[in-house]
Amino acid sequence: MSEHIFPGEPPPRPEPSSASRERQRPEFSRFEVYDGRPDGAIPLPGAFLVLGSMIGVGLALGFVAGFVGRWFYLMLVYPGAVGAGIGAAGMWAIRVGKVRNPLFAVAASVLAGALAMLMIQYAYYLHFMDRVRLEQPALAPLLDQGAVSLIDFIKLRAKEGISIGRPGQGKGTNLGEIGTYIYWAVELAIIIGLAWLLTIDEAGQPFCRRCNSWKPMQVLGVLAFSKEEAADILRGGDLTRLASPNPATIADAQISAAICRQCGTEGLLNIRLDWLSVNKKGEVSAKKIMQCIYPGHALPVLEDAIYPRDS
Ligand SMILES: [Zn+2]
Repeated sequence: MSEHIFPGEPPPRPEPSSASRERQRPEFSRFEVYDGRPDGAIPLPGAFLVLGSMIGVGLALGFVAGFVGRWFYLMLVYPGAVGAGIGAAGMWAIRVGKVRNPLFAVAASVLAGALAMLMIQYAYYLHFMDRVRLEQPALAPLLDQGAVSLIDFIKLRAKEGISIGRPGQGKGTNLGEIGTYIYWAVELAIIIGLAWLLTIDEAGQPFCRRCNSWKPMQVLGVLAFSKEEAADILRGGDLTRLASPNPATIADAQISAAICRQCGTEGLLNIRLDWLSVNKKGEVSAKKIMQCIYPGHALPVLEDAIYPRDS
């Protein structure tokens, strides 16, 4: 069986006249398959929106975490909240700004996460400067001249080492200088990682370039094939194979599709195949196996192939 998946999306087709539409009956046997990678577009206003909101939220939450941190700091929890906040802002901005570039989402996550982490330190730094001015007024002119920079302060804090331990149980264990840097690296990874995880998928959602709008992904149902068979059929484009399922297989492949509301079957059909598995608790989880793009008129064929449910 020949398998050929074209990269990206097919080129835009000319609008067919009503006469030619009549002649070109859709061929249900074989379709050209495209891999359906996002087109990578970053509209300029969208780029500013994504960067502005992710960095803005990162700086604001970073400051709050560092400010509250002078009284109590919840390790791993605060960075988690900062990362989730940056990610949520990014998801919103990607959608509104129509950014279809997962790499850009990653870059924005790294930048916003690093600045947020720096802001946490900056809030501590401000507190430190205030305390020194209050406790040792003689040093105030020196501080005004910029004797202790933010970087100096961070190095100082690391040298002193931060302590971990349960709240209210004394000083806890000091991590030491290296341990402190490692801990900060973990925090940075949490912030960036969460923002990254939340935004990368959002920027890879199906999009109709003709209408300049996102296409909502909807579950069609389960195919009467194993996940390997279903993936093989979809990659090959020969959908006649869907007509003859093997009754012995376990149907564990769920198919979802996204079609443009305006273009309908005249547009492109984004398809995603998920592997459905049930864990010991009886919870069903879906894991993406593959995605591809078909011409829109493949939708009725796929809908016909959905496994009848017994309910
Ligand atoms: Zn459209």
